[in-house]
Amino acid sequence: MSLQNKIMNSKGKLEARELIRKERVEPALTRLPFWATILKKGHRPDPGVRKFVPQELEAFRQLGVNVYCSTIRSSGITDYRHCPRKFFYRYRLGLKPKTTTPALTIGIIYHLIVASLYRHGDVQKALALAAQKGRDMEKELQELAANNPLGILPNGKAVEEQIEGNLKALQKAKTMALWAWENHPFNLDKWEVWDVEKLIEINFISIVAPIRARVDLILKEKGTNNLYIVDHKTTNAPCMEYFATVTRRLQTRLYRLAVETMLYNQHKDSGLKVVGMIYDVIRKPAISFSSQDDLITAHSSQIAKKIEKARGDHGKAFTAMTDIQKGAYRKRQKEIDRDSKFSSRWEKHLWRVKTWYDDATKESPSEPPFMRGRFRFNSPVVTEELFLQLREASRACRANPDPARYYRDPSCTACNLFGSKCVYTPLCNSTLEGWPEIIEANYETKTRDQEDLEQEE
Ligand code: SF4
Repeated sequence: MSLQNKIMNSKGKLEARELIRKERVEPALTRLPFWATILKKGHRPDPGVRKFVPQELEAFRQLGVNVYCSTIRSSGITDYRHCPRKFFYRYRLGLKPKTTTPALTIGIIYHLIVASLYRHGDVQKALALAAQKGRDMEKELQELAANNPLGILPNGKAVEEQIEGNLKALQKAKTMALWAWENHPFNLDKWEVWDVEKLIEINFISIVAPIRARVDLILKEKGTNNLYIVDHKTTNAPCMEYFATVTRRLQTRLYRLAVETMLYNQHKDSGLKVVGMIYDVIRKPAISFSSQDDLITAHSSQIAKKIEKARGDHGKAFTAMTDIQKGAYRKRQKEIDRDSKFSSRWEKHLWRVKTWYDDATKESPSEPPFMRGRFRFNSPVVTEELFLQLREASRACRANPDPARYYRDPSCTACNLFGSKCVYTPLCNSTLEGWPEIIEANYETKTRDQEDLEQEE
């Protein structure tokens, strides 16, 4: 009897699990995810509020929050490992901060533009989408501040300050995406865009919670049946650091499992196979949208007037200058001539960012600000290590909602991860009685699964 049939005929989870454990010694057999099935949209009510022990659920209801069962996703598992309590707030209670950080805004806009570029190949359309997203964000902030006479947002920033921060993040993300698109496009003679922003949800035998993956891009190598999963990353750290752990990342393995399952269930006779993964990692530029992007700064404008005046009486004024003054004069004249070529601050900013990327690439060729890593899978789709991680994650997604079990990170490194204060600090610093007020002021209720559904519509 084949292993697939054995699993299908197994009497229960324990027996199935035992079979999978044994299977790890037979890598060839683990290449097909026949033990996983893809869930179609609307297959199950989403997101489900599980029937917990009534008193626990009632206690949360009194605090004004619902408890949700989450799907398993790599970002959730990462959060859970950083701090179980953080996972609890975001994935079990569905609490989402009402304001975003600049880093998050950059990630959201960058992915939005890149997805649009791979879907339509139209730069103007992609920029228009980003601009619309920027306007929506601004509107949300204005509405949030409208309840507060001083215009102070839940994160303590003035609404104007936050809008300016978002605008800078938006400009940065736009320039990053355009630079990557112009300088590191995939060669479409060699690659075919197979799917973009693909949301896949699967069930895996004996793992209770469904698994979800949103894959940025799937490329097909032309002339073959080979598919590659592509993921875009934006980072502040050197790109090289990212690649040190890439092959053993849980995200890599979850995405592969999701795409292989989709192929097995929906494209069985196509001959297509997932053979590897490509990571595109781009470093955020060290320059921001600022007064340096003004076409004529106040300072330049004064000098421009003087230059104009000097031009009238060029010979005399110029001869009277020292060498230092002459150098400064020529430099300023060059800048003014250059700025006159830009029709907007945005164009000048784009030029500054492109120059930064070009210089950074030339200065450190071994650590460039953009790196593309492609690797082929050479291990089984599911190993015991992955299986055990999925089981742990499934428990976290559905366990009884007892905050004590989702303990706070004892080392507290997660509270200041990457130098940013955790967005759930107010909840952690408060007793349960204080939660309703804090939640009302700082968070909205929207689970990641609900966000997915909104995005799909
Ligand atoms: S503030 Fe610290 S302990 Fe609390 S959820 Fe955030 S990371 Fe965890």
